[in-house]
Amino acid sequence: MTFNDVLDDIKVYEAGKPIELVVREYGIDEKDIVKLASNENPYGSSPRAVEAVKRDAYKMFMYPDDSMYELKSGLQKKFGVKRENIIIGAGSDQVLEFACRAKLKNGSKVLMTKITFAMYEIYAKQMGAGIIKSSTYRHDFDELLKLYKKENPDIIFVCTPNNPTGDAVDRAILFDFLQEIDEDTLVIVDGAYMEYAAFKDESKNIEPKELIEKFPNALYLGTFSKAYGLGGMRVGYGVAGEEIIKALYKMRPPFNITILSLIAAIESLKDKSFVDESVRKNFEQMQRYIDYALKRKIEYIPSYTNFITFIFDEERNSKKISQKLLEKGVIVRDLTGYSLNAIRITIGTPEQNDRLFYALDEVL
Ligand SMILES: *Cc1c(COP(=O)(O)O)cnc(C)c1O
Repeated sequence: MTFNDVLDDIKVYEAGKPIELVVREYGIDEKDIVKLASNENPYGSSPRAVEAVKRDAYKMFMYPDDSMYELKSGLQKKFGVKRENIIIGAGSDQVLEFACRAKLKNGSKVLMTKITFAMYEIYAKQMGAGIIKSSTYRHDFDELLKLYKKENPDIIFVCTPNNPTGDAVDRAILFDFLQEIDEDTLVIVDGAYMEYAAFKDESKNIEPKELIEKFPNALYLGTFSKAYGLGGMRVGYGVAGEEIIKALYKMRPPFNITILSLIAAIESLKDKSFVDESVRKNFEQMQRYIDYALKRKIEYIPSYTNFITFIFDEERNSKKISQKLLEKGVIVRDLTGYSLNAIRITIGTPEQNDRLFYALDEVL
């Protein structure tokens, strides 16, 4: 069968390996498996959200409120923007998809940093767009500006903190860059891990309100999947000027998130202390990874997120290391597919991190 030509050049997104697979393939007991591969919140979800979902489980026969009134009110309050500035997606991934479909056509171009979130490329290619990448894995805005002027892309993706490297961009440097960008170029600022960066270093914090007031061509993306601990519920959002949000709404199917996802997200927004505590504990545990890397002379990328990237020298192979960890029931993310000899490890609970250090010591 023939398909749309654009598919020829698309690689299927490789998600973190699920616990169930390790149970099946290696016969390891589920309770002995430590998954540090998908940047989920190791402390789970807000207990308030879990309670609310249990209480309202009987509502699953109903369609959700398609205006998403209450969730938008919560986000409005959190960010100080108008309801008209918000769109909700099944994960921020879905908002990304809306944006690519709304802005790109065959022959369009998009610009991004060399090593960044794989879905940008996939959604752009689905629309037949050409991909322009910088030459370094850190956001180098001098180079990005040169490429912008040369290639005139329709979308620029900025992921901060960046996945899978964990580094973050200074707000001032990003804003200087955005000053140079034409109003017809959509700039997508993906803040999936912004709660972590904001805690660690105020100069990396990007407030959607300030961003969209200064730059009418910017679209901010946020998610409940990471610090909020709702990865399984699939809720994300976009914040932008009304003109952009109206365009994205034309791409949205009705009832695009479930009624229980809505309830979980609404309750999670009310439980600020759960998120704050998760983020605080994350950096407490992160320090152990830094100490570990220093002691074992492993190169790491200073991280503003809930994961850390260890880069290995030539004598060690990240693919083999992650495979051996897997056989010990510890799931991490190998970055060979991103052309890095590195592994990305989600910062877990103290006990999970103990397990990782023990297993990694054995493997190395
Ligand atoms: C996890 C992640 C997302 C989106 O996740 P959703 O679960 O779809 O909200 C977006 N961008 C980056 C960089 C991520 O790591």
